Amino acid sequence: MESSKAHQDPFTVARGKLCTAEAGMTGDWRSSRPEIDSSKCILSKTGNKPCFLCWMYCPEGIVTKSIPVKIDYDYCKGCGICAQECPAKAIRMVAEQNID
Ligand code: SF4
Ligand code: SF4
Repeated sequence: MESSKAHQDPFTVARGKLCTAEAGMTGDWRSSRPEIDSSKCILSKTGNKPCFLCWMYCPEGIVTKSIPVKIDYDYCKGCGICAQECPAKAIRMVAEQNID
């Protein structure tokens, strides 16, 4: 009997790994950016882990798993998933043209 690993498609496995910048400088695509209000972030307020839902759901893998949470804007494409998933509503999307 073959192990289940023998049936894994290497392409699918590779695509399933979280990695940064596979598609280049994805920050260039962005029309709005996520801004984190650390005073609302559960982690920053309590120091308790885990939350990191923004880290977990970011499809670019560019949110740090740290306190405070940070975003690498060179690669953030502005999809807004982090803002959607944040249970504390600590992340809001801001139009790029409204940023100095
Ligand atoms: S908007 Fe949020 S989830 Fe989307 S790429 Fe940027 S940091 Fe990641
Ligand atoms: S999802 Fe929201 S509350 Fe959780 S770590 Fe990220 S910013 Fe903080």
